[in-house]
Amino acid sequence: MAPIQQEGLSLYIHWPWCKKKCPYCDFNSHVAADAPIEDYLNAVKHQLVSLSKQIPSKHSLTSIFFGGGTPSLMPAAGVENLLSTAEKTFGFAEDIEITLEANPTSSEAKKFNDFVSAGVNRFSVGMQSLTESELQFLGREHSVTEAMHAIEAAQTACGNVNLDLIYGLPDQDLPTWLNHLDDVFKLGTQHISCYQLTIEKNTGFYADWRKGRLKPAPEHIQADFYEQTTAKLLDKGYEHYEVSNYAKPGYECKHNRNIWRYGGYLGIGAGAHGRTPLTDGLTATRNYKMPNKFITEAHSPNLGIFEHDVLSPEIQAFEATLLGLRLKEGLPLKRLEAVGGQPWHNFIDVKAIDMLVENGFLMTDLQSDNPMLYATPAGFLILDSVIEHLIKV
Ligand code: SF4
Repeated sequence: MAPIQQEGLSLYIHWPWCKKKCPYCDFNSHVAADAPIEDYLNAVKHQLVSLSKQIPSKHSLTSIFFGGGTPSLMPAAGVENLLSTAEKTFGFAEDIEITLEANPTSSEAKKFNDFVSAGVNRFSVGMQSLTESELQFLGREHSVTEAMHAIEAAQTACGNVNLDLIYGLPDQDLPTWLNHLDDVFKLGTQHISCYQLTIEKNTGFYADWRKGRLKPAPEHIQADFYEQTTAKLLDKGYEHYEVSNYAKPGYECKHNRNIWRYGGYLGIGAGAHGRTPLTDGLTATRNYKMPNKFITEAHSPNLGIFEHDVLSPEIQAFEATLLGLRLKEGLPLKRLEAVGGQPWHNFIDVKAIDMLVENGFLMTDLQSDNPMLYATPAGFLILDSVIEHLIKV
């Protein structure tokens, strides 16, 4: 059983600026020649300390994640200052994981040692592709050679590195992609995330797609990429521990795993979301998105939080199902009882379990003291539909 309090508390800090906007990206990222860095760091610090006062029982932080945007553009001194504030405010678990997302340009790679001195102990590097033409298509700032050097620098600096890759680009062919994965393996990163290219609204690619200029790979091709990528990573000793994530044993991302296990987390900074265990119960928070608005609002009584909803037990059970089934380790049904306050079969359709098991999308262990549901690899491919069938609330 894994109720929220037992999973530890995580902290997400958002850095909202990038050097340029990539055409596929719908993250809260902005390009600004004169970003108000000092004001933003002060606002983030103020929100963190003030929000902590509304958490009734303090837990040491088990993970911190600097996401963006491009957090590797942050001044290392700013990272150090925020980490020191977080430690004074909450305390750190002995084995805390502190990740910083980085773009692999040469100027950012030069800062990796400074980030490690500031307290970072894991990098997540947005490599995305190992071919120049694909990097150009994706609008990335780095070259393949630059990225290779940056990953070596990240490995030397801390020895715990994730690589983000995107597959399923228009006209990308599977054998070439699989060959590129061999080059990726030579980099020896401990963790690899592989995401399928998706066309999101309000992006450059969405506009191109609407005009018929961009055709993403069809679903059956995407499924081939997914299955063969997974097979190749398993063969190289990476465990497929989450739908899109693969890790050498012991190098799973603690931060994201806590979220998938429905652990609590604070979302700090422009546009960040949180699931924070406040006095009234687990609360969904969403911050003001635009950096300047966030800076102003963070010092007001709302602390920069735009939306604030105490989650009902039913919604918590739904979210715990949605997130927990993403993990290969499966969903302990007692977690639903812990967050939902009712027997698990009040939330899950037992007939749907049988149907999904018969069709090979789900496995179960319902007879044990700790009943479990597991999505199969085939279930991972259609997880939204699996959950739609399962959930009653
Ligand atoms: S660098 Fe990352 S966050 Fe910034 S625009 Fe590109 S994909 Fe988005």
